[in-house]
Amino acid sequence: MIAELLQQKSAHESALENFEIAADALGLSSDIRTMMRHPERVLEVSVPVRMDDGQVQHFQGYRVQYSTARGPAKGGIRYHPNVTLDEVKALAMWMTWKCAVVNIPFGGGKGGVTVDSKKLSMGELERLTRRYTRGILPLIGPRRDIPAPDVYTNPQVMAWIMDTYSMSMGYTVPSVVTGKPIIVGGSEGRSEATGRGVFHTTKASCEHLRIPLKNARVAVQGLGNAGSVAASLLDAAQTLVVAASDSRGAIYNESGLHIPTLLMHKEKTGSVVGFRRSEPISGDEFLALPCDILVPAALENAIHSENASSIQAKVIAEAANGPVTPEADRILDEKGVFVIPDILCNAGGVTVSYFEWVQNEQHLSWEAQDVYNRLEHVMLRSFQEVLMMSLERRVNMRTAANMLGVSRVAKTIKTRGLHP
Ligand code: NAD
Repeated sequence: MIAELLQQKSAHESALENFEIAADALGLSSDIRTMMRHPERVLEVSVPVRMDDGQVQHFQGYRVQYSTARGPAKGGIRYHPNVTLDEVKALAMWMTWKCAVVNIPFGGGKGGVTVDSKKLSMGELERLTRRYTRGILPLIGPRRDIPAPDVYTNPQVMAWIMDTYSMSMGYTVPSVVTGKPIIVGGSEGRSEATGRGVFHTTKASCEHLRIPLKNARVAVQGLGNAGSVAASLLDAAQTLVVAASDSRGAIYNESGLHIPTLLMHKEKTGSVVGFRRSEPISGDEFLALPCDILVPAALENAIHSENASSIQAKVIAEAANGPVTPEADRILDEKGVFVIPDILCNAGGVTVSYFEWVQNEQHLSWEAQDVYNRLEHVMLRSFQEVLMMSLERRVNMRTAANMLGVSRVAKTIKTRGLHP
């Protein structure tokens, strides 16, 4: 088992492997590949924080700009004890292809701090955020690199980043981050955008595969920001969400979980565990459940070579980034599972982030319905473009999405030429 785990590829290795598959299929020249295989900029910062007990504790922070060929780097900031530079590079690379898949004028970036933020007080979290922002200040800015929320960061964290940046500039700069609270320039519809995009692409996939949404059985791994919205919208579309999980455990009810009550339970107790009218199940049982749609909405590498063959779902909607390893992808492909790849499925978040940035830059604020309509349009257009690529080139949806994203970035790089 240990040997198997050691053989498991890192997120960056998986990202590079998928890039090579797409580059081969596109017949990219070795010059363009060389320019695209490496992140443009990598910054590692020390984040010392005065803790509530008076001691100073050190945390490691990162910001990676993978590509700015198509526009400013764009990507979230993750606070998690397992954050590594390798992971941040992978996430920054995926952001690059993702922004290109939905055809918004951004490059790709990502940031993170290696920290168990659940153990910090509000004051410690704010000091950590402000010090980390100071550290990455030379890279970020509305024309350079625009952070957003990711795992265990939220609109409040974005407000602190915006304030720290604005204090250093001497004037208020809302467009330096997206995913802010609405009161400081956030967009209507941003907080639920990722889950909404997951819903649109899942619905479109079911239509394509002729799977009726009504009574389709759904399992959602990771009932956080992305997962809970996807679960709510799928529930509202009359699917049966039969299982849900979070970092503390998984639950199941064959007849369907009552999602509004489950979300209240999670809000109150901090977990899905202990929800009445459900039975606890293990993580492995969760993935192997008989269901039509599986939504991995937690972290990378959740579905790997050891558990992929037990999956019974017909559709996997990747709300999370990188939840399926390349080895697992091959197994799922052979089983005929339809995977909606992360860079398409969860692109609703960055799409509404782009809308937020556009509104900030123009000093406008759009109505929620306007945002929802524009988001639906972008998600369905992108889904169709990836599906067409998949059908025409006879490749799976992941390779098709990578081909679409990589080809748009490659064309931009080629057209701009190599400086100097
Ligand atoms: P979040 O912190 O709100 O939610 C993450 C959830 O996953 C939490 O409920 C947590 O308890 C759960 N979790 C953690 N480890 C788990 C495990 N081992 N098993 C089951 N559940 C586990 O984060 P989020 O913003 O919803 O992000 C989730 C995923 O979606 C990440 O991969 C992120 O990169 C991706 N994503 C998020 C956005 C966004 O706008 N929030 C956009 C695109 C992609």
